[in-house]
Amino acid sequence: MRHVERDPYADVDWSSTGRFKANLHAHTTCSDGSLSPAEVIDAYAARGYDVLAITDHDTYRNDSRTGAATWPWTDHGRDPDTLGMLAVRGIELTGDPAVANIPHVTSWFHDLWQPDHPFDERNEDLAWMLATLDERAAVSAWAHPTRSGELRTHGGDPGWFVERHHAHRNLRGFEVYSGTGRPSATDSSALYDAILTRLLQEGVEVPLWANAADDSHHAAEIGFDYHVHLLAERSTTAMRQSLEQGSYLVVQDPLGNALERHLDDREGFWTAAPAVTHIEVGDRSITIEGERYDRIDWIADGEVVHTADRLPLDLGGLGGYVRAVLHGDAGARMLTQPFLLGP
Ligand SMILES: [Zn+2]
Ligand SMILES: [Zn+2]
Repeated sequence: MRHVERDPYADVDWSSTGRFKANLHAHTTCSDGSLSPAEVIDAYAARGYDVLAITDHDTYRNDSRTGAATWPWTDHGRDPDTLGMLAVRGIELTGDPAVANIPHVTSWFHDLWQPDHPFDERNEDLAWMLATLDERAAVSAWAHPTRSGELRTHGGDPGWFVERHHAHRNLRGFEVYSGTGRPSATDSSALYDAILTRLLQEGVEVPLWANAADDSHHAAEIGFDYHVHLLAERSTTAMRQSLEQGSYLVVQDPLGNALERHLDDREGFWTAAPAVTHIEVGDRSITIEGERYDRIDWIADGEVVHTADRLPLDLGGLGGYVRAVLHGDAGARMLTQPFLLGP
């Protein structure tokens, strides 16, 4: 019989927790998006999102070389409190497009402008960037990690990510699903499981958490890939803690651009994709209760090892972690974060 050594949802009170729908990767006319910041904010608000990070490319501060000003929202005539939303300060680090050879990283909760060491003069130096993000107490995620440009750098080698995971505590997330509404959509779940398998073989305490985000550039790309954060309150502190501890759920909904898939009565969060309503971690099993799903697959070391609401912990073939995928209609799915297993 195995036991759960780390349950990312251990502190969640399922009967009272708030559910906050979040997209943490979006572009506007401040870089290569076609909608203004106000239009992007309005499109997410209309779909019942509670949390949004605008992450334009390399917009280090309001007067960066791009002339872009993505922060604060009030500069664009949008007040997060009036909208009932949480605005998260964000950026996507992509390097100089002329010679770009770094994987894209989305990063939140900081201002990277530095008077003595202009960030944009060193934006091809990934090691320096990641060290600086550590210094700035950022929380970051690998964006669309299996897109071709990224593969040029790391070749899909899980060891490349494992090495950086050990060195940089700001790297907490990995965009498993990215831009499902885009022509360049990526599903990086195979690489994600390969990295998790390696990390758990090495006995890490905090693994890489699964992320999903629209990476939206146009109106038709909004609403597909998002998080549901389980927070006691709508605050930057609670969001940061959730991203660090992995106490959130991940959704991919191929019909997500349709407004009617996203209903939110402001009392409770509702979407047509599957939902998790309760997770019970016991000595002998993990049990998931949810809504709007057909089946739950349990994945260990990249393989589906069981299909049921309840995973018995004496099941053969369990490695260092197990994670659940709830399958709903039209290909919609909700993922839990990995549960870390002890001997
Ligand atoms: Zn990107
Ligand atoms: Zn992007």
